[in-house]
Amino acid sequence: MQKAMLPTTRSVLRSLGSRAGPANLRRAPQWQFRSYASEAKDYDVIFVGGGVAGYVGAIKAGQEGLKVACIEKRGMLGGTCLNVGCIPSKSLLNNSHLYHQILHDTKKRGIDVGEVKLNLKQMMKAKDESVAGLTKGVEFLFKKNGVDYVKGHGAFVNEHEIRVNLVDGGETQLKGKNIVISTGSETTPFPGLEIDEKKVITSTGAIALEQVPKKMSVIGGGIIGLEMASVWSRLGAEVTVVEFLGQIGGPGMDADIAKQAQKILTKQGLKFKLNTKVTSGDASGDGVKLELEAAKGGKQETLDADVCLVAIGRRPYTDGLGLENIGIEVDERKRLVIDQEYRTKVPHIRCIGDCTFGPMLAHKAEEEAVAVVEYIKHGHGHVNYGAIPSVMYTNPEVAWVGQNEKELKDAGVKYNVGSFPFTANSRAKTNLETDGMVKFLSDKETDRILGVHIIGANAGEMIAEGTLALEYGASSEDVARTCHAHPTLAEAFKEAAMSTYSKAIHY
Ligand SMILES: Cc1cc2nc3c(=O)[nH]c(=O)nc-3n(C[C@H](O)[C@H](O)[C@H](O)COP(=O)(O)OP(=O)(O)OC[C@H]3O[C@@H](n4cnc5c(N)ncnc54)[C@H](O)[C@@H]3O)c2cc1C
Repeated sequence: MQKAMLPTTRSVLRSLGSRAGPANLRRAPQWQFRSYASEAKDYDVIFVGGGVAGYVGAIKAGQEGLKVACIEKRGMLGGTCLNVGCIPSKSLLNNSHLYHQILHDTKKRGIDVGEVKLNLKQMMKAKDESVAGLTKGVEFLFKKNGVDYVKGHGAFVNEHEIRVNLVDGGETQLKGKNIVISTGSETTPFPGLEIDEKKVITSTGAIALEQVPKKMSVIGGGIIGLEMASVWSRLGAEVTVVEFLGQIGGPGMDADIAKQAQKILTKQGLKFKLNTKVTSGDASGDGVKLELEAAKGGKQETLDADVCLVAIGRRPYTDGLGLENIGIEVDERKRLVIDQEYRTKVPHIRCIGDCTFGPMLAHKAEEEAVAVVEYIKHGHGHVNYGAIPSVMYTNPEVAWVGQNEKELKDAGVKYNVGSFPFTANSRAKTNLETDGMVKFLSDKETDRILGVHIIGANAGEMIAEGTLALEYGASSEDVARTCHAHPTLAEAFKEAAMSTYSKAIHY
């Protein structure tokens, strides 16, 4: 009945005249939009969250001929990755590297450069333009694939219906045969240090600082912490990274590689305090004061900085999603519990990406997005969690896929190790980029590749070959007998494979 009496969004537009656009829509009285809430629109699948998981899933669903909507509250598609994660951080990493290289690494290449000045505002603008271009690109793909993009905050009303508080005011309601939760993650806060994104920052503040701090402390020596530490150190900050564990890069990084990475980053000017815990922080004065203690107890010290980056990890985000209305709970780490087909305990409600199990990586979320749509449409899908690469985009890059030595030892697996240094690779020599190595781990009996670990220029690109090898169940001999173009860095990859079951030629 309400439907007949109250105007729809389209009729509101009509009443505002032919030139009515989004600006007029925003000024329209609220009741005109609330009326829309009574007309829950039906969909085959609704994605709540338009990050990599949600937007990729929505595009795939559109391609599969499903009627699909994607709800995103940020007002921009692409989630953490495009807006405040992978993309802006890589823009700053790339351009800060260029700046640092021009300052410190051109003379020996025969290039004399005049005065070099940092224009931070322009560097940030270049980053923002990359982000804007990519998020707009996703909107275009939505249109191309018939995805309804609903800008607003979604919350479950019941097991099939979602109420959306629209970004532009008012609300609407959607009904889905299938609903996929893809609400992502947020920075884990450090107790006692309030984030203001100016003095005490997360990665979101770290990609938007307006000036280079003199001193920066970083709590957490994982990938995000080290990437941001690299950016600001290259731009002139004195950066100290405090890490509770005995190695940088997080537990997935092979210990040999982590040691090399730390040595190289130290040479670049980063300072490290490993096996050290931050016991408290105080940002009440001009800067941020951290109290540190040896991880095993004992030695104490104070670390002062102008800006402190909190990078102790990320946690799933499901706030305000109305999970209590559908009886779905999260586990002790705030993850939504799912089965192998991404189903929660309510089978038509599934979950993918950062808000559930597995590594918090954009490409993992993307794989799950395709698989979840295949499960919905065809009843089968596929993600190989044993072959998901990780990359740290420092200079040199660090990349790996599969297991590291510690993991194999802990699992009692017998393995062979082969490695090849970039100092012995012709392309690395011509590029004057000889830091690093490729390391292979393969099964002692079958020679099947179990892990590939690389530190060196372009490691993040090269790891694709290792991932393909793992996906196809290749042996190190398979890789070594595959012809690689000369002169390329990838020849180091081939020779490391060769040295795993036989001997490398050039080392
Ligand atoms: C600084 C940084 C650098 C990173 N670099 C890399 C990298 O180089 N490579 C890599 O693979 N990964 C990287 N990551 C991780 C990567 O960004 C995440 O793994 C990825 O974004 C996860 O995608 P997602 O779609 O699951 O979640 P998100 O990208 O977090 O997207 C979730 C979206 O859901 C929206 N949302 C939440 N709740 C609601 C709701 N109720 N209604 C509507 N919308 C909602 C949010 O606004 C958000 O846009 C980085 C992360 C950070 C922070």
